[in-house]
Amino acid sequence: MKAGIHPEYKQVQVTCACGNSFETGSTKDEIRLEICSECHPFYTGTQKQIERGGRADRFKQKYGLK
Ligand SMILES: [Zn+2]
Repeated sequence: MKAGIHPEYKQVQVTCACGNSFETGSTKDEIRLEICSECHPFYTGTQKQIERGGRADRFKQKYGLK
């Protein structure tokens, strides 16, 4: 790993399909989500059957969340 090649990390606007938006740190210019903490079944309490290793993992991979 060389130093000085990191993408710029900045505050960007995240927009979710549910209409919620918030800021987060990212190297992207803009982030669009299909699901967020406001509409995710886990948070809203309308929990359905959560696919283990399914959507949530792909979500994390897609947006680099850990
Ligand atoms: Zn949402």
